[in-house]
Amino acid sequence: MASMSNTSGLELEFTSFFNVVDGELCKAYSNKFRSTLNPATLNQNPEVPFSSAEDVDRAVDAARKAAKSWATLPWKVRQEAVAKFADALEANSNGFAQTLVQEQGKTIHEARGELYLTVQYLRGTASLTLPGDELIDNNEQRKAVRRYTPLGVAVGIVPWNYPVYLACQRVGQALITGNPIILKPSPFAPYCNLKLAELGLRFFPPGVFQALSGEADLGSILTAHPSVDLITFAGSVATGKKVMEACSKTLKRMVLELGGNDPAIVMPDVDIATIAPTIAYLAFANSGQICTLPKRVYVHESIYDNFLSGMVNYAKNLKLRTDEAVAIGPVSNKAQYDSVKSLLADTETRNLSIAAGSTKPPPNLGGYYLMPTLVDNPPDDARVVVEEPFGPILPVLKWSNEEEVIQRANDTNYGLGASVWSKDITNAERIARQLQAGCVWINTHAELDAKFPFGGYKQSGIGAEGGLEGLKGYCNVQVIWSKLG
Ligand code: NAD
Repeated sequence: MASMSNTSGLELEFTSFFNVVDGELCKAYSNKFRSTLNPATLNQNPEVPFSSAEDVDRAVDAARKAAKSWATLPWKVRQEAVAKFADALEANSNGFAQTLVQEQGKTIHEARGELYLTVQYLRGTASLTLPGDELIDNNEQRKAVRRYTPLGVAVGIVPWNYPVYLACQRVGQALITGNPIILKPSPFAPYCNLKLAELGLRFFPPGVFQALSGEADLGSILTAHPSVDLITFAGSVATGKKVMEACSKTLKRMVLELGGNDPAIVMPDVDIATIAPTIAYLAFANSGQICTLPKRVYVHESIYDNFLSGMVNYAKNLKLRTDEAVAIGPVSNKAQYDSVKSLLADTETRNLSIAAGSTKPPPNLGGYYLMPTLVDNPPDDARVVVEEPFGPILPVLKWSNEEEVIQRANDTNYGLGASVWSKDITNAERIARQLQAGCVWINTHAELDAKFPFGGYKQSGIGAEGGLEGLKGYCNVQVIWSKLG
């Protein structure tokens, strides 16, 4: 892991990793450990605690104890604490970025990008304010006041692909709205998440920001816990359904941010030399492992061949390594590597045309590397079109009729993001309004801002993170209604 730097007492060290419970760094109650593999080298990463139900009980008790006083602090005080936490994260970005490369497999350039986006997102969250007491009726008969109160104890369950950003998205919103949060990292990427909570010890009272690392069953222990009030979850559709089922037992509140299979519709008027590499860059970012990225690219038939060759040129120049800017890292873990390889094998079985990359892993690289692969105009029912690949494989498809391409783009159970690419913004917006997705971008994709809600249509999620809509998901709404006269 990244080495400790001793230039300032405020810098974290990144060699040992602990749970954070009730204001302390601690091992798991069972004293058991686990570890992960660096996906680029397959070297073993350091040990992290292997938590179980006892650890969950301790953390939930501490969060319950902390909840009342955290909730009664003025909004401004909580905002300031989150803003200071963002500053400290920025000051420690180097250690976090290096650790992120080693646990997740993204390039150092992308890891720095994730840290930058996270700090901006936390600052954006810390600048948001939900309305305080709002007088919603006031006449001779009655006075009514609407206000928002924290839900109680939140649990943030996050995946391995963007672990720092996705954790802080939840942590920032939970904390400013007055809810202590217990962070549960993915078993595949626990290191940065534990360090985030360690850093949080400097800014938040005991029990307010805690983290527990463990195996796959830790999530279900947390979602089943009767004293947890909210689950804020990012992950796959399949796990989201299990979380929803578990939450139903105690009617816990939940926000589900799930998978996506985003269409990008490319109109005939685009500047091919700029837009083809831009879309290829976005699609292969983080080795294709981002929930909202172009995952099906529909290109107008009149420019298809030139556009595809622009994308091929971009893909061919990507180096397979983690220490350069124009590069692509490995797939993040063995389970995902096997899943993407099965999609590649299916393209081979169906004899689909490969425009760049390969259906076979590159030889002699050691880690879970795969070539950035473009599939040339596969049929709409190919697995690589229907499924969320979550890896460096991208179908590029031809279209000719606008109504039909909108129908093809919407023909999925997913509805996270989508994009339209055109010089004519009015026309692009007309198409965007017909796409079934929580975020539809024009001439960009996957840009996020703490001020805007981000959520999915259909099976891509329930509720939203970000914006005032996101904050309201962390609160009860209450009306105090006085009868007068
Ligand atoms: P996953 O669903 O396998 O795991 C997500 C988290 O849930 C992990 O922390 C895991 O340990 C935990 N978990 C597993 N079983 C659980 C259970 N029964 N109860 C509670 N928690 C449980 O997802 P993944 O493979 O880590 O991540 C990839 C998926 O996440 C992709 O589908 C991607 O699109 C999606 N994702 C969505 C967003 C979003 O904001 N919409 C963001 C990032 C990733």
